[in-house]
Amino acid sequence: MAYTPAPPDPNAPPVRINLLSDTQTRPTPAMREAMARAAVGDEQTGDDPTVNALNERVAALLGKEAAVFLPSGTMCNVTATLATCRPGDEIIAHRTAHILSREGGAHAALGGFQITGLDGDDGQFSLDAFRAALHPRSRYEPPQTMVSVEQTANIGGGTIWPQATLDAIAAAGKEAGLATHMDGARLMNAAVATSIAAHEMAAGWDSAWIDFSKGLGAPVGASLAGSRAFIDEVWRWKQRLGGSMRQAGIIAAACHYALDHHVERLAEDHANARALAAGLAQIAGVDVQQPHTNLVFFRPDGAGVAGDAMVAELRQRGVLLAMMDGRIRACTHLDVSAAMIDETLALVREIVRKA
Ligand SMILES: *Cc1c(COP(=O)(O)O)cnc(C)c1O
Repeated sequence: MAYTPAPPDPNAPPVRINLLSDTQTRPTPAMREAMARAAVGDEQTGDDPTVNALNERVAALLGKEAAVFLPSGTMCNVTATLATCRPGDEIIAHRTAHILSREGGAHAALGGFQITGLDGDDGQFSLDAFRAALHPRSRYEPPQTMVSVEQTANIGGGTIWPQATLDAIAAAGKEAGLATHMDGARLMNAAVATSIAAHEMAAGWDSAWIDFSKGLGAPVGASLAGSRAFIDEVWRWKQRLGGSMRQAGIIAAACHYALDHHVERLAEDHANARALAAGLAQIAGVDVQQPHTNLVFFRPDGAGVAGDAMVAELRQRGVLLAMMDGRIRACTHLDVSAAMIDETLALVREIVRKA
């Protein structure tokens, strides 16, 4: 996941409150039971009934013809660009996008693609900025073949793109002949926070995916959806990259369980994030971005504590979080309670008081 891990400290106390990432959730006992009961087959040959049912379920959820189960969200992004672009092609995204900064250069290393990072507040670029980045096809410039957005925008603060902007950028992209790709690592957070259905958010986008191993609380897995022809091509890349699996119904069962039980409850994570942000905002000198979903970005420097010092002090008190791109990111999730938020706020106040 996208964070700068704190240096391991053998003397640090055990972590009691884990705000590092929604990837840190542990499968619940009920989820583990669902996994143990899963009907399984050979996923690679299309014979795993639990995976097949998940593919149909996610295709319907995202309003697409087909879907494929992959080991990670990163592999969703990588197979999507590999299935769509050719070497030398240009992909347009926000400059903080996961595909640009957090996937080890996969799109350049494996596909030979270049990604243009657009500016814009909160991890989002405007329709005007997108239009300004488009250029006519010529032998001089790289062919522009894809535009990608993150819903929600992670480094942007877990922000939700307005539906009208999503629709307008997708339409402008199609008009210019680009494929449209939605990185939906936290799409279900956006859907729950707005009551706009995931398929509606993804409607203008040729490909879209959701991650089960973030706020949904499953241990492994992400599903990429699109047209049948696109998914056929993604399958080729999944095979090439070694992403085809065997009795993957064991992990797909956790994803079914997550869709059944862990979607609506994302609202609790959002309420906890709002409570954390509201409490931090009351501490003089702490600069906090108002959260849209489950990510809270803040800077304590104005209160006399540098960000990395705050991270280290909290770690000494059993709270784990990290700096991300110059700010502290706190992430609420399944294993974070309202009481833990209260305790974290009390500890931040104590650290600021002592400084
Ligand atoms: C986490 C994340 C990914 C990658 O997903 P993994 O399952 O960690 O590979 C991609 N995009 C965004 C916005 C993310 O937050």
